[in-house]
Amino acid sequence: MGSSRKALIIIILTIGISQLIHNYQSALDTATERANSRSFLVAEWVDKSFDLTKFVLRETAKNFDPSELVYPTPDPERHQQQTEELIDTVSRTPNLVFLGMLDDQCIVTHTTIGINLGFDGIEHQREYCKLALSEPLSGYKLSNMFVSVDNTMNVTMSYPLLSDDGTLQGFALAGLDLGFFQQWLDLIELDNHNSITIYDLNSRMLARNPLIVSSIGTQVTEQHLNRMASSTSERLFSHRLASPVDNIDRVWSLRRIGYLPFIVVVGEATNHALQNWQQLLILYIFAGLTLCAAILFATYEYIRNLRQAMTMRHLAITDPLTGVANRRYFNEVASLNIARNARNGLPLSLLILDLDHFKKVNDIHGHATGDRVLVDIANMLQSLCRETDVIARWGGEEFTLLLPDTDQKGATTFAQRLADSLSTYRFIDDKTITISQGIATYQPGDTIESLLKRADKALYQAKEKGRNRFELG
Ligand code: GH3
Ligand code: MG
Ligand code: MG
Repeated sequence: MGSSRKALIIIILTIGISQLIHNYQSALDTATERANSRSFLVAEWVDKSFDLTKFVLRETAKNFDPSELVYPTPDPERHQQQTEELIDTVSRTPNLVFLGMLDDQCIVTHTTIGINLGFDGIEHQREYCKLALSEPLSGYKLSNMFVSVDNTMNVTMSYPLLSDDGTLQGFALAGLDLGFFQQWLDLIELDNHNSITIYDLNSRMLARNPLIVSSIGTQVTEQHLNRMASSTSERLFSHRLASPVDNIDRVWSLRRIGYLPFIVVVGEATNHALQNWQQLLILYIFAGLTLCAAILFATYEYIRNLRQAMTMRHLAITDPLTGVANRRYFNEVASLNIARNARNGLPLSLLILDLDHFKKVNDIHGHATGDRVLVDIANMLQSLCRETDVIARWGGEEFTLLLPDTDQKGATTFAQRLADSLSTYRFIDDKTITISQGIATYQPGDTIESLLKRADKALYQAKEKGRNRFELG
């Protein structure tokens, strides 16, 4: 394969892979953005949903004089009337389950629940007491979720009653049923395994869409959620994870809800978010495979053509019977060798050999035997020659040999060695065969034609002088 083609393929692959990575990342980024904006909306809604309770607490506190927050009450009639007003407020306010007033020591002086009058919250270490008394100036306080006696998830919210100099004189306390979280989340249409969950700061699940009844109220152990729940500064965090609740892979947006003790967690299923990307991946794989197939096919064709060309070339320059070169190749190579040796001042010899009385071999033993003798002699020549020598079948029972870097002495040594080898050769029983050889050694100004002519003449002389010998031309 050409290097430019290789470079092109590498460029295509690099662009394709980086496109895929980019698309993958941006699909996840888009899903994260969607999750973040959804968590923002839910957080805003939850935050605002406590506004009515805040209003009720403020208005209720306004209706009390700190001197009235005593237990037992000195004025039962007034107490009765105030309690009825509290009951009326609770009945008109959605999600409110109780409303009460407590003194500066967290003792219940008024309540819609009735039986708890005089209850000492501090003694019982109630969370709302600790909250309301710890920093009374900072306004509304929302407790963590607790499970009430009727098995609902509740929170309390308090609002302080302060004197002009800012000392705590008592506070209003409301109880809220958080069931409305679930009711509201149920109204949001979610698809494709997306999810919205609200947790408290103990990582307990308060509501979830889609609802998993058995998980509501349970504590979820997930390091990012747990970390955010215990941090006061971290407001938003997004990441990717298989859900510890239903094990579906999602990108998550975790968001603290205002200054309330809740966290909303929105999950966007990666499976859906990556749907387009997966289609692109399949397309790329298909394109990649097609490209590979095309390259393989082109390479196969290339090799096939190359082989074909090599076979054609081999056929064009080889003698089909003996496998040695033919006259055309000999002429090509001999010309080049003569030119090179002439330039370098190196010797070179050319030898023509002809089988003696070969006609008889054919006549007596048949043409097939004659063919076999020709093949045997070609093989013998190949075994005696050097790598750089060129052997060719000149035609019929005549062979030419080009012996580069060989002077006349070397050529005669070779001719003698060839005659000696042949003397031990029996082509059938005790039948021997001899050859006559003509040798021409390069002289300045020689061409392939002049060398052939001299060698041929020498061969003729060898024949004339009785065969089975060599002559120099
Ligand atoms: P000389 O010693 O004078 O060379 O005698 P010769 O019989 O070899 O010479 P001649 O040129 O008269 O005959 C050559 C013979 O070689 C003729 C032909 O039968 C045989 N011959 C040529 N080509 C082939 C071949 O491809 N196969 C076979 N079996 N015989 C061939
Ligand atoms: Mg002949
Ligand atoms: Mg002959």
